[in-house]
Amino acid sequence: MGDYREMWSKLQMDLEKHDILCEALPQAFGDIYLTQENRPEAMNYFNYALAEVHGARIQELQEEKEKGKKVVGTFCVFVPDEVILATGAVGVGLCSGSQFWIEDGEKVLPRNLCPLVKAFMGAKVSRTCPYFQSCDMIIGETTCDGKKKAYEILEDYMPVHVMELPQMKRKKNYEEWQDEIKLFIKKMEELTGNEVTVEKLRKSIDLCNRKRRALKRLYDLRKHTPSPISGLDALLVSQVAFLDDIERFIEKTNELCDELEERVKNLKANGKKRIVVTGTPMAVPNWKLHSIVEGLDAEIVVEETCTGTRYFENKVSTEGETIEDLVKNLADRYMKINCACFTPNDGRIDDVIRLVEEYKADGVINYNLSFCHTYAIEYEKLEKALKEKNIPVLNVETDYSEEDAGQIKTRVEAFLEMI
Ligand code: SF4
Ligand code: SF4
Repeated sequence: MGDYREMWSKLQMDLEKHDILCEALPQAFGDIYLTQENRPEAMNYFNYALAEVHGARIQELQEEKEKGKKVVGTFCVFVPDEVILATGAVGVGLCSGSQFWIEDGEKVLPRNLCPLVKAFMGAKVSRTCPYFQSCDMIIGETTCDGKKKAYEILEDYMPVHVMELPQMKRKKNYEEWQDEIKLFIKKMEELTGNEVTVEKLRKSIDLCNRKRRALKRLYDLRKHTPSPISGLDALLVSQVAFLDDIERFIEKTNELCDELEERVKNLKANGKKRIVVTGTPMAVPNWKLHSIVEGLDAEIVVEETCTGTRYFENKVSTEGETIEDLVKNLADRYMKINCACFTPNDGRIDDVIRLVEEYKADGVINYNLSFCHTYAIEYEKLEKALKEKNIPVLNVETDYSEEDAGQIKTRVEAFLEMI
């Protein structure tokens, strides 16, 4: 990474503390990613994107800001990127996947809370995340209790707009979500001074659909036996998707897919166990479960998570002549996301079973971030449904620390032997 200290300083970052983070990341990435064999050439771009995650991409965001654009940060795949883009703003999915931020998060939040929530708060409190420091506004949502209460504290540090996400999927809830999207449009118009027109919204829907198509293409290629790409590499692509320039991301993901399409022509069976991961999101640089599973010579072929299929499945229709029509289309697509914050959430169980069949998987690992109650409680139903179908399943509850890595490895090893 180049020298960006001047830029970071202008962003009022804690440079000394940030240096510690910058030192740790390349080492972890090198150990986990660069030691993999036979990686696709096209992954070089995603290596670069990660290496420059606090550098070149932040520089681009500053250039956009100098041109008058606004930058907004999001934490959940329910926040419609289409609205952000239609106002000419740039959206970044704030990662919050590092143990580094937990200690600072715990200064303002209780310890017995999901690491994702503690990490995002720690990133802001410690001023060590240049994305946070670049954001003009944060868009929160009332998904889980941890997040919605943490946004109240985050408001002391920066402007926050919270979208009220319904927690059921009845007709009236679809209408409520449409109203929330309309309020969000208004908020974004106020922030940017740009009006959302039918034409702009349709264009941004189209762009986001193209991004979804590129990710779907990548995931479809993972259905081959063996998969032409490791789960670790596919996870990195998904993680970069939340931060990168959209047009460039689509181009680079499609280039990767072109290469993988050639690869699958010559692949020979490798006998590796094929695993579906389901559960809570894995934000950069959370590669813990993938590195353990793939280090044991199994392959993760799909993630039913928000850094996996929930992010790109289902397109938004561009049909309609009014903002009302397009907002309805947005609500219809987003309400299909099966997050455990909904009750009931049987659609997620159906999705996991469908993915096991589509990806010809041998077993499922449920990944649960510690203190995420909605996913933890939902595991009971998931396990029962999978057992009824004779699909082996393992539950892994963990945080971002490495303390339990050995214990998880032993459990995954036993699981892989059993299936
Ligand atoms: S798990 Fe639920 S709350 Fe978390 S990012 Fe996904 S949809 Fe949002
Ligand atoms: S993983 Fe669970 S507890 Fe953590 S932010 Fe997401 S929904 Fe909330």
